[in-house]
Amino acid sequence: MEDKDVTRIHGPEHWAAGPAAAGRPGALTLAHPQPSLLDPRVASLSAVLDLVRTGRAVTRSQLEVLTGLGRKLVSLRISELAEVGLVDESGRGPSTGGRAPRRLRFVAEAGHVLVAHFGATAAGLAVADLSGRIVAQTRVAHSIGEGPAAALEVAFDAWDGLLDARQVRAPVWGIGIAVPGPVEFSTARLVSPPIMPGWHEFPIRQQVQERYDAPVWVDNDVNAMALGELRVGEAAGVQDFLYVKVGTGIGAGVVSRGGLHRGGQGVAGDVGHIAIREHVGIVCRCGKTDCLEAVAGGGALLAAAGRAARDGASPVLAERLASTGELTVEDLRFAAEHGDTVGLALLTRSGRLVGEMLAAIVNFFNPSLIVVGGQVAEAADVLLAGVRQSVYERSLPLATRDLRIVRSLHSQVAGVTGSAFTVIDELFSPGVLDRWLGDGSPAGRPELSATA
Ligand SMILES: [Zn+2]
Repeated sequence: MEDKDVTRIHGPEHWAAGPAAAGRPGALTLAHPQPSLLDPRVASLSAVLDLVRTGRAVTRSQLEVLTGLGRKLVSLRISELAEVGLVDESGRGPSTGGRAPRRLRFVAEAGHVLVAHFGATAAGLAVADLSGRIVAQTRVAHSIGEGPAAALEVAFDAWDGLLDARQVRAPVWGIGIAVPGPVEFSTARLVSPPIMPGWHEFPIRQQVQERYDAPVWVDNDVNAMALGELRVGEAAGVQDFLYVKVGTGIGAGVVSRGGLHRGGQGVAGDVGHIAIREHVGIVCRCGKTDCLEAVAGGGALLAAAGRAARDGASPVLAERLASTGELTVEDLRFAAEHGDTVGLALLTRSGRLVGEMLAAIVNFFNPSLIVVGGQVAEAADVLLAGVRQSVYERSLPLATRDLRIVRSLHSQVAGVTGSAFTVIDELFSPGVLDRWLGDGSPAGRPELSATA
């Protein structure tokens, strides 16, 4: 039994007290205690709520089968959830012959979640309900390099506008922010982000909590995209997959056994700064040499495209540059599609290098799916072809036998939706749920997102 092992290693005194022990000297608290470590009431409440809110159970008898709980206990848990307005039982469910049973419905509109998904050059801002459905959203051009105060201003303006326009009355239950840099998930702080001056250790959570009085979680932008693909996108139902973003930079999100794997500090999947095999001597913005991102990322591709436009190597790119004054990923796609050898070579090489990095990870992690997204990948089929070729050539046959490599169809949607699920997953995790369910709502409880 797993919980017995935990007991033996740490001693029961560390976790038996649960979240209430936070802040006590010497006490070890778990951010998300396993259900088996929790009080059985909380574990069963959480299990019942999960089944109802994900639509896997719509009747009491389905809950009995899926949870293994008896009829009385299921009934008790439903009453508790109905009392706080999270589950509604007024409709009728599917009949199996006799009178149709009452249908259980998760009350997704009981609260709202605010979302900001920042990329390097644009941000998606949204309001979601508790099922992760986006009820209002907007997208604005914004450079993350302008610093945290400017970014939060963008988010605050957008959220206030969206809430007003939709006349959203239900309270804000939580806020999810995704940023293109390494985030320590437990403290919600960025640590030495390469492209984000002013963001190092900036207290994002505190600033946002002060304004909206709700718990706040901050994650890496690619982790949020992976979570979005898992819940509503290309990877729905897949247990082990990688999401790779090729945008201005390069990063990956790792989903293992159906859950996001953030790693010890939250930087799992930061693959853009893995060194490529060739020694090209290019210094990355992180300060190291020959990082994948510095050679194959969108920023590097556009810099190379600009050089080719100016020195006459690419007439197509030169023409695009002359007409707009600045090359974009779209120009690169246009050049490649019109047979421009420079554009084609740049995108093919990028795909090949990303694929070589992925081949090593495929052997190590054995995903059954790789979803490739981000601005550059989405613009260019030729890049995906390069990725596929390298991965299939260089990975173990067994690791690639059933491996699919697909392009993300809606990576902006995945990012925004995933950021909503960052919050929803935390709010409904047993350890956090236990702390607010008695009050009926996590609104006005910013301390719920603090784990230390
Ligand atoms: Zn680097």
